[in-house]
Amino acid sequence: MNLIAVALATAAWLAPIPGALVEQDFSPPTKAWGAGHRGVDFEADPGTEVLAIGSGEVIFVGEIAGKPVVVIDHPTIGLRSTYEPVTAIVEVGQEVRSGDPLGETAETGGHCAGHCLHLGLKGPGKNDYRNPLSIITHGSAVLKAPKT
Ligand SMILES: [Zn+2]
Repeated sequence: MNLIAVALATAAWLAPIPGALVEQDFSPPTKAWGAGHRGVDFEADPGTEVLAIGSGEVIFVGEIAGKPVVVIDHPTIGLRSTYEPVTAIVEVGQEVRSGDPLGETAETGGHCAGHCLHLGLKGPGKNDYRNPLSIITHGSAVLKAPKT
C-alpha cells in the first residue's frame, strides 16, 4: 500500500449532515425483496447541505423512481454510499473527499421528502445493504432522536 492509499483507508468517515439526529434507523429486510429500511434517515429541512461521508468518485447523479439520488463509489472499502433526495452540485466522474458538499436535500422524492436525508451503504453486491452508521466515526456526533 502506498502513502496515498494509506491516507485514504484511514480517512475519517463523516455524517452526511454534521450533528443531525437519526430519524429512522437501519432495518434491513429479512428477504432480498422484503419490507425494511435499507439505510438511515437523518433529520433535515429542505435545502440542508449534504456532505460526502468519505472519499471516492461520484458514479451516479439522477432520478431513481422519482427521487433525486447521488451515489459515490468508495474503492478503499469496496462500498457505495447513496444520498436521497438530494439536488446535486456534483457530476458523475467527479472525485470527492470526506466532507465535500454534494448538494442540498430536496423537498420532493421518496420517504424523506422535505424532512430528512436517506443515507444508504451498499456492496460489494448490488443488493448488499449495510448499516451506514457502522462506518461513520463517533467524532461526527451522530445522535439518535428520542423514541416517541
Ligand atoms: Zn430512509
